[in-house]
Amino acid sequence: MSQLERRRFIQVSAGALAGAAWASTPAASAPEIDSGRVAEGKVTFPSWTATTERPSGGPPNPLPLNERIGFAVVGLGRLALEEILPAFAEAKQGRLVGLVSGTPEKAKLIAAQYGVDPQSIYGYTDFEALRSNRAIQIVYVVTPNALHKEYVIGAVGAGKHVLCEKPMATGSADAQAMVDAAAMAGRTLMIAYRSQYEPHNRAVQKIVREKPFGPVGLIDAINTQNMAAPQQWRLKKALAGGGALPDIGLYCLNGARFMSGEEPIEIFGRTWSAPNDERFGEVEESVSFMLRFPSGLIANCFASYGLHEARRMGLHAPGASVNFENAFAYTGHRLTVAHREGEAESVDERRLAAKNQFALEIDHMAECVRTGRKPRTPGEEGVQDHKLMEAIYRSAESGQPVKLDPVETVDATRGPILSDE
Ligand code: NDP
Repeated sequence: MSQLERRRFIQVSAGALAGAAWASTPAASAPEIDSGRVAEGKVTFPSWTATTERPSGGPPNPLPLNERIGFAVVGLGRLALEEILPAFAEAKQGRLVGLVSGTPEKAKLIAAQYGVDPQSIYGYTDFEALRSNRAIQIVYVVTPNALHKEYVIGAVGAGKHVLCEKPMATGSADAQAMVDAAAMAGRTLMIAYRSQYEPHNRAVQKIVREKPFGPVGLIDAINTQNMAAPQQWRLKKALAGGGALPDIGLYCLNGARFMSGEEPIEIFGRTWSAPNDERFGEVEESVSFMLRFPSGLIANCFASYGLHEARRMGLHAPGASVNFENAFAYTGHRLTVAHREGEAESVDERRLAAKNQFALEIDHMAECVRTGRKPRTPGEEGVQDHKLMEAIYRSAESGQPVKLDPVETVDATRGPILSDE
């Protein structure tokens, strides 16, 4: 037998053996416990573990590809490339169909990596050209803060709905102009407050609102990171609008607001920077502020561009204290509740399944556009944060607390609660 004949003989014999093994396996159709069931456009599996075990959560059941809402992402910087574009792979209702960038070579490469049609790459002066691209229904603006206004107004002017990164703008007047432009065009405007969609943050919100340990008297929130690169736009006032406050202090401010649903009636703020530090010639290094809410709740917040990263929130109630590590981070959220249990001081860890908060916010926006509902975090939510940040700066300048008109309604600047709440 030649070498070639011998090889063919071995292949044929192996095939025959595999066929015999296949013939002896049980019937191909699996019972429902394993095949799952299909109903109302979804696949579900019955649980195969006891009720004592954590359920798997089931398949994600995304919308069919051609029914998902098309997004164009504007500004291909770190956040867009490191978090947002990868998150589309986990999104169930939205898909990436367009890019807007000032760097064509990068946009071309990214389009190839993510399967975006090269015809759907645009420059910043092409917003009007988006109008005729019907696949793009939502424009997600991820540029430096001072540029949000122009691109949001350009996008709604071209008939698109808009998801805009935080902080919404560099001041409340610009933010209000963006809300007005969207309203005039009849388009939805949502601000990307990702934490409001993140499961651990929502569990903490429940503790504040449902008061299982009594009313929370104090929220303390810290968001810090040590910055380098003085030439980056975050350290330029004209592009950033401010320093630690609008970039990372905003998470503490918005966090205290959405946890409680209340609006502050008094604000006291201080800002400072290390003298002669070239990073902080234009914007503040650190900010500390206190918010007093009508229920008596106090929020003590601190943000800095000059300290090693910490992203923590604490709740203090008569019956328990809650420590929320990595509250404002992308991952690594950890929630512990310390309270008295009989003779012992008990510290319980509440473990929730981690979810991609960028995918959650993308899907929320897509759902709003599909169903015509108002986003949980609409433009008005961003305007209110800008008004409060302006009050913090005013207080820091005068050294005096700033009093604010009481707002009676809960969640005054937010859309309806999330559908799975
Ligand atoms: P980067 O500096 O990493 O990227 C910004 C991108 O914007 C650039 O790569 C560029 O994209 C585009 N751009 C257009 N004009 C300018 C300009 N004049 N200077 C610099 N960049 C320009 O910023 P980030 O991605 O970190 O931040 C973008 C936005 O996202 C900000 O509003 C920020 O506050 C927000 N953000 C939100 C976070 C969140 O967790 N929700 C986290 C981080 C940021 P191109 O080359 O394609 O034109």
